[in-house]
Amino acid sequence: MTQSSKPPTTITGIEDLFKSKRALKQFISAAIPLTNFIDVYPNGTTCCPFHEDSTPSAKIFNEKDGSQKLYCFTEHKMYSSYDYIVLILKQDPKTFLLSEISEEDIAISMRTVDFSFEKTESTFSELINDSAKRLPDMDRFLSCLYSHAISI
Ligand SMILES: [Zn+2]
Repeated sequence: MTQSSKPPTTITGIEDLFKSKRALKQFISAAIPLTNFIDVYPNGTTCCPFHEDSTPSAKIFNEKDGSQKLYCFTEHKMYSSYDYIVLILKQDPKTFLLSEISEEDIAISMRTVDFSFEKTESTFSELINDSAKRLPDMDRFLSCLYSHAISI
């Protein structure tokens, strides 16, 4: 079975990056921190910019590949800076990237990104377990959120 949307196995130049939506998404998520766009409380929580949110119901996580992800506990969805550019700023991600970072710097940054998706893309449970190790209060945070969600 062949899958045309599968990225090339080696992403070496900018051309490869712009040919694969998946590679571009991963690169932007790693190169442009989500925290460039949103304010985050010291404990990593934030009001979700992807739905109308008056109390912080989202949390910022650091992925293994160096990218930042936002998990919204209300929508049960994971977002990256790529999603912010597309859904909130309503801009073309390629155009946005080129307006933020020079082609030269993109080429340099690309060397630090691991494009082997299967290895780097964590499942949500892996992410939670990972964060739980780093943040001892994660369980408490989650149970507070869930009990809050149940109480409304
Ligand atoms: Zn949300």
